[in-house]
Amino acid sequence: MDCKSSLKKLSYYKTGGPYEQLYAPSDIHELKQALEAITAAKTPFFLLGAGTNSLVMDTPYEGAVISFHKMTQITMLDHGIRCRAGVSNTLIAETAHQHSLAGAAWMNYLPGQIGATVRMNARCYGGEISHIVTGIKSFTPRGQLKEYRIKTHDRSVFRAYKDTIFMNNNEVIAEVELSLQRGNADDIRSKMDFCRSDRESKSQFTFPSCGCVFKNDYSPEVSISSGMLLEHAGAKGLIRDHCRVSADHANFIFNTNDASSREILELSMDMRDLVWDEFGVWLEYEMELLGTVPPDLKSRLEEKRVAKYKTSRLDELRAIFKGKQGSK
Ligand SMILES: Cc1cc2nc3c(=O)[nH]c(=O)nc-3n(C[C@H](O)[C@H](O)[C@H](O)COP(=O)(O)OP(=O)(O)OC[C@H]3O[C@@H](n4cnc5c(N)ncnc54)[C@H](O)[C@@H]3O)c2cc1C
Repeated sequence: MDCKSSLKKLSYYKTGGPYEQLYAPSDIHELKQALEAITAAKTPFFLLGAGTNSLVMDTPYEGAVISFHKMTQITMLDHGIRCRAGVSNTLIAETAHQHSLAGAAWMNYLPGQIGATVRMNARCYGGEISHIVTGIKSFTPRGQLKEYRIKTHDRSVFRAYKDTIFMNNNEVIAEVELSLQRGNADDIRSKMDFCRSDRESKSQFTFPSCGCVFKNDYSPEVSISSGMLLEHAGAKGLIRDHCRVSADHANFIFNTNDASSREILELSMDMRDLVWDEFGVWLEYEMELLGTVPPDLKSRLEEKRVAKYKTSRLDELRAIFKGKQGSK
């Protein structure tokens, strides 16, 4: 257990303050021990994967952090891969390719670790983690082991994109089994290359970010991506102190120069206000906040508004959006 250092070095977004305790288990047994110790001491805690979907707050955290960066073992199975929670998505894609296994190429250069990827039910480039997960071992926060076997189209664990039972039950994902099929290594590599180059061409890795700050709202009344709502509300390129909205993707905030978590959070709330003023849509956060949010930010952050759709503005935008979709 490491004490009182800064989380900045462990978070992809390069934010985060000091903490009381850090646990970095390397296997299931050590993870269970960490949870039991934390429970026995009644210490608050949070889980940190690679931090690519999260903003870690700079406020000193009076609790424990569990990091999975040492839980990196991969085991080959007959028709798939078993991996511990801290294995990176890109390593899974690479390993599958080495064994000519298809089904994981879309994970190449998807930032993050498999544990959080399952929790968040991440998806991109036609893939979604729920489509290939067949088994999960997790722990309750008190350290009790649970096992899930997942059948195709079973929606009891993966309810929807970025919506899983793990987002409510606070279980800690320890190990994941993925089912893959035999494939052609060249085809797998070319899909992997496409995923990487497409992200690079959109400058996704120029500065630290957490990917999309807001969930995409495809509700029938809106049917427009949050990125497009933000772009047409004028968010692209907005700057606040040491961070700014990406010039390529209005739903990304880049940490351009050692921004604080406060700066990033305030910029995100300004973006949310812009979309509200322009379209009457109250965006929902996809970015997870880890640690302690200062009270003045918390009240603004947690504000809920009932949609007041500006129908004619939304209609105009929907026509552009449909045109773009059609031309793909
Ligand atoms: C440039 C960029 C592009 C991105 N593109 C996409 C995309 O195309 N599609 C997409 O879906 N996402 C995308 N993301 C978001 C991110 O890649 C995924 O959500 C990824 O799965 C997060 O993994 P992580 O380890 O970084 O999670 P973290 O940010 O560390 O954690 C996310 C949440 O999971 C919790 N958690 C961490 N580990 C565990 C565990 N073992 N068990 C249970 N809970 C845990 C954390 O407490 C937190 O609440 C992008 C991010 C970036 C930076």
